Amino acid sequence: MTAVARKQLPLRPAGPDTVDALLAWYDEERRDLPWRVAPGKRADPYRVWLSEVMLQQTTVKAVIPYYLRFLNRWPTVKALAAAPLDDVLAAWAGLGYYSRARNLHRCAAVVAEEHGGKFPTTAAELQKLPGIGPYTAAAIAAIAFGEPATPVDGNVERVVARLFAVRQPLPAAKPELKRLASTLTPERRAGDFAQAMMDLGAGVCTPRRPSCLVCPVQQDCAAAAHGLAAALPIRLERAERPQRVGFAFVALREDGCVLLRRRPEAGLLGGMLEVPGTVWGDLLPPAHEALRTAPLRADWWAVPGTVVHVFTHFRLELIVYRALVPADATLTFWAEPERCQWVARRDLHAAAVPSVMRKVIAHALKEN
Ligand code: SF4
Repeated sequence: MTAVARKQLPLRPAGPDTVDALLAWYDEERRDLPWRVAPGKRADPYRVWLSEVMLQQTTVKAVIPYYLRFLNRWPTVKALAAAPLDDVLAAWAGLGYYSRARNLHRCAAVVAEEHGGKFPTTAAELQKLPGIGPYTAAAIAAIAFGEPATPVDGNVERVVARLFAVRQPLPAAKPELKRLASTLTPERRAGDFAQAMMDLGAGVCTPRRPSCLVCPVQQDCAAAAHGLAAALPIRLERAERPQRVGFAFVALREDGCVLLRRRPEAGLLGGMLEVPGTVWGDLLPPAHEALRTAPLRADWWAVPGTVVHVFTHFRLELIVYRALVPADATLTFWAEPERCQWVARRDLHAAAVPSVMRKVIAHALKEN
């Protein structure tokens, strides 16, 4: 688009007409997602909650099979509350951010026990439940209960920053973007509006190449009018992701079981099963020192290559040692035997083992 053409755009500030245009577009073009209902209808809060928790930090494509499996296995919040935590963690394995799964289970228990199996109906009350932050509370309140609440995530921030040409960089601009988003939220069809904003951000107003020419709100968009669409929102550069390193010890018993250890409840991968290993630090200890911390005395050998896993806040690189041990192998006391268990390889797929540890085990067994 030329500068002359931009000036000729009939620009009007985003407002009620923008909302109408967006809702009309949503009626025709919305994504068909398994947790959604027809426009104008109220969705089941359990389904909205389940999908929104899964969608935090995860793509729609990755979430759909997990969502369908969870719903099939635990069709109601009461059924999910009654499930053993380990089953929920195991079903969650691969989605990452396991604290979400633990909070999901805790939240289900609170809704089942303290609210008679019914979700509270307002964003303010929903936010008191475990694992439900402002975004998820607003999404459930709007989509399932019709409250004119405004869920604002990264996608919506981007759309709003462009609609109003907000030049203040993120993250400082967050409160202003939230305020501007709430000025658009309609009293009627608040749930459809929330989902329309999500769809617009996901499919049209995309981060790098927004499709302004087919955008239903182009004539109200200040960024498009000023040729700023792809440049907004402005972000302060992130610090480089730090790196951590460590050793992991895969003990394989003669009967085909693998030694795993339960991680502490609090913190990263809390309560999940891990391959025992050294702490993850900035510097790698010498191999002979690391081997002194192995969970049992054995003939350990280094598996060629390393395992790399990228968490949100750091990149982890692990050197993996492996040993074949007899059925009566005794664990060292520093392995904390009370937290250890031997898991048959055929049962690993159903165990609460996070992706990083699945990578470690696969790496150790690949030449087996
Ligand atoms: Fe985003 Fe372009 Fe639509 Fe504006 S016109 S909301 S920048 S896609």
